[in-house]
Amino acid sequence: MSPSLDRRRFLTTVMAGAAVVAFDPLGGRWVTAAEAAENAPRTAVAIPHLDGELTTDPAVLAAFADDYGHIVHRTPLAVLRPGSVADVVALVRYANRHKIAISVRGQGHSTYGQSQVGAGVVIDSSTLNRVHEIRPDRVTADAGVTWYELATATLARGLTPPVFTDYLDLSVGGTLNAGGIGGTTQWYGMQVDTVLELEVVTGTGALVTCSPSRHRSLFESVLGSLGQLAVVVRATIRLVPAPESVRGYQLYYSGLGTYLADQRRALAAHRFSSLQGQAQRTAADDGWEFFIDAAVYHRGTRPHDAAATAGLRFDPARTVVTEYTFMQWIDRLRPAVEFLKSIGAWYLPHPWLDVFLPASRTRDVVAATLAELTLADTGQGPVLLYPFRTRRVRPRFVELPREPVAFLFSLLRTTVPPTTVAAQLAGNREVYQRSRDAGGKRYPIGSLQLSHRDWLDHYGRDFPAFAAAKATWDPCRLLSPGQGIFGPPR
Ligand SMILES: Cc1cc2nc3c(=O)[nH]c(=O)nc-3n(C[C@H](O)[C@H](O)[C@H](O)COP(=O)(O)OP(=O)(O)OC[C@H]3O[C@@H](n4cnc5c(N)ncnc54)[C@H](O)[C@@H]3O)c2cc1C
Repeated sequence: MSPSLDRRRFLTTVMAGAAVVAFDPLGGRWVTAAEAAENAPRTAVAIPHLDGELTTDPAVLAAFADDYGHIVHRTPLAVLRPGSVADVVALVRYANRHKIAISVRGQGHSTYGQSQVGAGVVIDSSTLNRVHEIRPDRVTADAGVTWYELATATLARGLTPPVFTDYLDLSVGGTLNAGGIGGTTQWYGMQVDTVLELEVVTGTGALVTCSPSRHRSLFESVLGSLGQLAVVVRATIRLVPAPESVRGYQLYYSGLGTYLADQRRALAAHRFSSLQGQAQRTAADDGWEFFIDAAVYHRGTRPHDAAATAGLRFDPARTVVTEYTFMQWIDRLRPAVEFLKSIGAWYLPHPWLDVFLPASRTRDVVAATLAELTLADTGQGPVLLYPFRTRRVRPRFVELPREPVAFLFSLLRTTVPPTTVAAQLAGNREVYQRSRDAGGKRYPIGSLQLSHRDWLDHYGRDFPAFAAAKATWDPCRLLSPGQGIFGPPR
């Protein structure tokens, strides 16, 4: 055993076998308790004290070499299950000394290896999962808390975060590193726009509390930064009074032009509390139809349906109006998810593509894409299509089309044989290029290989500022190299 290993700590962890006790910088590998008992290299350097655990258990490594996409697989050298924020600080500092790459995984629901790291350590944020404090206007929670857990805790006090993603079993840290778009983005921006304060561990291992009034530049840079600048360990998020009930409207359209025009009309008129929509194949599978998926939130007094939908040109014969509790509404995807799990489709590959399109070009891009798209191409996955105001989204590095209104256009593909992942990825590339040519931007949660050139194009005139932020907060480029934006650690 190396003299640099603490013998007492070794003895307490030896039973764990796969638990890591040291790193060998020369061999570039971890030394487990079991190996240390045998013969650890003399160059091994003991890891700092941890409240949690650093493990090399092969089953754990395999689980963290996968995500909801099931397309990219990078096996980490170890996984940290932090027992405290201090563990994250200690690991990041240790990683800086030994040039070890780091990624964070919340719920692993990004689809193309975004949360993975080969030859590095994944921090499993799910062990940082406490809701700390709920006040009338804000909630403070660990980054590993899911939006479902957050909603459950705040709704018990009659309060709610203003914006939810469609699926609630995503971590706070995961969506704050992407953006977090939902039906109320038209009012509040994305989830990143509802954050009042963040506690982060920068790429150099500094624990910093940042907000619009403290370390403002870091605050504005970290939100939506794809894990490039810091590990988010805690967030304080705005709360608003929760509605008691929700009246949901599904309004059907046969024509894309009328659908898009009505979506924009509904947005401009602030008609609905929540505004989303989708394209779907017709029942006869001979074309596409569209529906606005909107809601009016209320407290007791039901809204007048005729007033809520006045002036919109949907097909009245097919309108679906449903009364929900607020929790039923925000969690309305759950029954479908349970069904997909029961038939196994949830576990198939998901080569998703998500882009933001400038409103002026949305019709061209969507029409050209849908003209080529079949049910087999999407594996019957949904096609989201809804507008929001771009000025509501403030973080510096969430890239959007440069128009007042943009549409989210998402092809939520599932790979159902005989369709192949390769064919769907090729389709993603085509749609991405068509979107980009029209001034669109990628929402980087999906499955698309971007070259350095593509990333330069993605960030455009923001790239120098993003690169400068990277050089300041993560100069060794240790954080989230899997995104491929800045090159390997140095
Ligand atoms: C069924 C489903 C529905 C979805 N619906 C929506 C939707 O309506 N709107 C929407 O915007 N998105 C939606 N998404 C996408 C989702 O928001 C992103 O994929 C999000 O990143 C997933 O969160 P996660 O906890 O699984 O993150 P992970 O996949 O674990 O991580 C995503 C990225 O964030 C980084 N990261 C994670 N946690 C931290 C942290 N604490 N600090 C620093 N970096 C971190 C990771 O390294 C990685 O780069 C949906 C995804 C699924 C599977």
